Amino acid sequence: MNSAFLIVAIIAAGIYLYFKQTVVQNQEKSEVDFRDSSTQKGAPSLDKTIGETKPICPYCETKLEKKPSRKKQCPHCENYIYKRTRPYDDAHIIIREDQIEDMEEQWAIANGQYDLYKKEQKRKERIKNRLTDQSGNEPTKEDVEFRALNEKATEYEFRGDWGFGRNIRLKMAQNLGKRERFYLAFRMYCHVCFIDINGPNNTSGTSNEYPYFTPKNAILAPGVISLMKDLIETLNYDTEETRKEFIEVTTPIHDGTPTPISPEKAWPKLKKELF
Ligand SMILES: [Zn+2]
Repeated sequence: MNSAFLIVAIIAAGIYLYFKQTVVQNQEKSEVDFRDSSTQKGAPSLDKTIGETKPICPYCETKLEKKPSRKKQCPHCENYIYKRTRPYDDAHIIIREDQIEDMEEQWAIANGQYDLYKKEQKRKERIKNRLTDQSGNEPTKEDVEFRALNEKATEYEFRGDWGFGRNIRLKMAQNLGKRERFYLAFRMYCHVCFIDINGPNNTSGTSNEYPYFTPKNAILAPGVISLMKDLIETLNYDTEETRKEFIEVTTPIHDGTPTPISPEKAWPKLKKELF
């Protein structure tokens, strides 16, 4: 329960910081992120040999009946085998769980985003160290990921990229859903829909000439709506309970951000899609 509260508090704190505009250092850091995103200084070359191209378990090296075409447990050692494409030669490979991150790095190199990838790794390392210092235990990968996403979303929002920020908040909701923290995931989707109803823009670099939000361009994503419907069923909410949660989640967001549409005005639009 404590950690659940913490997550909600972190989100609110992020928005509060945006509102107060006190994270100047953060802004400077993120501007560097952006400028460097296309450079590749010091990037290693692509790995030609990563992964297994033949139907052989990458853990126990036992021959498999056929090469798995999606995530699958090895029938011999019971470890999970993952399927990926190798950027070096587009070969379909199977990998171990501990190679997932290596593959992310491979794709970052292939897409010319190695520097950005390294910066995100450093961010996660810093968050992991901080959480370990605070609690004395090593945090889970998902926990580190969630906090890294929250930091990133706040950076985007701080520089006026509300559309990019919204995409990151969607990832935060997915992170919570994957961990079966349905209540918090639902609240995060409320956040995403509220931003969507306001019609978020990306205004980075255009100073004050362009609005942060254009409500007449607003779109509610069908994929998000369908995930919310599932969560409403899981949480066993009726229309009134859903409304209450939505208003509770989005009121501090509306107060702390330049969103032009209020929670009360946003709710009927969401309700129409959900019920
Ligand atoms: Zn095996």
